[in-house]
Amino acid sequence: MLNEMGLGPVWFPVDVNAAVQETHTLADQAQTQEPMLDAGPALIATSAPVNANIEANAEFVAGLPQSATLPEVVAAPAQAASLMQMGWNELQQTVAGCRACGLCEGRQQTVFGVGDQGAPWLFVGEGPGYNENIQGQPFVGAAGQLLDNMLKALGVQRGQRAYIANVVKCRPTDDAGKDRPPSAEEIAACLPYLQRQIALIQPQVIVALGKTAAVALLGLDMNTPVAQLRGKQHVFAGIPLIATYHPAYLLRKPLDKSKAWQDLCMAMQVMQQN
Ligand code: SF4
Repeated sequence: MLNEMGLGPVWFPVDVNAAVQETHTLADQAQTQEPMLDAGPALIATSAPVNANIEANAEFVAGLPQSATLPEVVAAPAQAASLMQMGWNELQQTVAGCRACGLCEGRQQTVFGVGDQGAPWLFVGEGPGYNENIQGQPFVGAAGQLLDNMLKALGVQRGQRAYIANVVKCRPTDDAGKDRPPSAEEIAACLPYLQRQIALIQPQVIVALGKTAAVALLGLDMNTPVAQLRGKQHVFAGIPLIATYHPAYLLRKPLDKSKAWQDLCMAMQVMQQN
């Protein structure tokens, strides 16, 4: 498995027991020197980040106590109340017919998510790409194969102790028809569905794959680099959240697979401590 990730010969888990838990404000975070990646993780309880573009979600996240129960849905009041009552089938049907943002115009189909609905592991990516839009599954193709290898390294697989979802359920494309990251408005429109999925799954650990997933769930500035977010334990609604690189990025930058492996080791230790 490590060879498949390009990580041979041996990688050792980082020591999260030595980490220090601290709470900080966004201002503190901006001023804080990030630890060296090899220096071991700090445990950070994310609180009160503010991004005007996704203000509703930032407000929601900021208001959560660290031991909070799973999140309320952020959406228009009527829709929010409705979403909060939905089970899996109704939620999936609602997503399939959703036209809450412009991404509905170009989609072939929505990509709801896949996996064990009671999984302890939740992996969250950015959004569907070309292949996912066609197949209706998250993380297919080469990036999906790498994610599957990452899952195997954790002793899980698709559908068994793991659920895979994206921040947005429809494929974002640019004017040339190529994949692009979702905008803050598109994220804000779609995030309630992911929040409801999280509430239904009640995972023990969330792994945010890439910047978009991490900043969306933590309510951070959209320009926050993932390098600033990895190597630490964050908290989303009382659930430990570990940020790491998106598999598609790792295919382009294979040298960073070693850092991704560090992140998975940390996630594994967090899972074992729960
Ligand atoms: S991306 Fe999400 S909010 Fe936008 S249309 Fe698709 S399902 Fe609806």
